Amino acid sequence: MKSPEVNFAAIKQGVRLEAVLRLYQVKDLIKSGNNGRYRGRCPLHRGDGRDAFHVDLRRKIFHCFSCGAGGDVLDLVARLNRCTLREAALKLQDWFLPGEAETSGDPTIRQRVTKRESSVNPPLPFTLRDVDAKHAYLSGRDIDEDTATRFGVGFYRGPGLMSGRVVIPIHDEGGRLVAYAGRSVDGRWPRYRFPAGFSKSRVLFNFHRAAATRSDTALVVEGFFDCLRVSQAGFGYAVALMGTELYEHPEQLLCDRFRRVLLLLDGDEAGRRGRDRVAARLRDRCKVRVMELPHGAQPDQLPSCKLRELIESATSWRV
Ligand SMILES: [Zn+2]
Repeated sequence: MKSPEVNFAAIKQGVRLEAVLRLYQVKDLIKSGNNGRYRGRCPLHRGDGRDAFHVDLRRKIFHCFSCGAGGDVLDLVARLNRCTLREAALKLQDWFLPGEAETSGDPTIRQRVTKRESSVNPPLPFTLRDVDAKHAYLSGRDIDEDTATRFGVGFYRGPGLMSGRVVIPIHDEGGRLVAYAGRSVDGRWPRYRFPAGFSKSRVLFNFHRAAATRSDTALVVEGFFDCLRVSQAGFGYAVALMGTELYEHPEQLLCDRFRRVLLLLDGDEAGRRGRDRVAARLRDRCKVRVMELPHGAQPDQLPSCKLRELIESATSWRV
């Protein structure tokens, strides 16, 4: 496979240091004079020093007077992830640049980003209308109308691939609608229908909403309905694998944005095997907690009070 192209200069120019600090949740930096200078606790060595870490947002550089780390946005991301500069550049390109490119006004950046993104799951050029959020199938699965409306989920009576199915909009990490999944409501095969060319491995369902919360924890479930139910129970930071595999890009998204991951996969054999695989992949990169479900149970089949109790007991960790 051809290795992806990295334009270091464009990244240094196009990515703002404050965007990187925000996304890595480097908080409580105190203004230090004018000219965009701040200082605070170092996110790299995490020492006690409250003002060892200095950043200069204008020049896009940082320096820690305690551990000696310093450099530009690429150095910071490489240090935070313990990866190479090239890997850091790829992360920044994938993760930070699309948003930055819109405001940077740099046509070379915008062009390159557009080109990269059009290759997998391009944004849909339409949205489905007259989607019925009050359909009996949804109430039958304990999804209330508010939740269905918030997620854009409902029964679709119009023509086409999704006709006669409950449609579930799927967005990329930037919040762009990239596909609908269609759930059969009458036993028709297949249970879930996806459009041709849609790549599950590039998307983490509901990531864009979970990332917009203030949570530093993500709750990972298997399916759309698990995600809807968990979110309805008050946990907006749930994401769904759309299966039991965690692919490379979704893993990157999770680890870039969240410090902790709660795994709540199904209580069947496939779920347990998936849970162990996902936990093993994530363990070196973030804090992982595995939640146990009774044998054969699925999160979306638990009553809301049970679900809430289970999640609250797991989120009480503090490190
Ligand atoms: Zn330091």
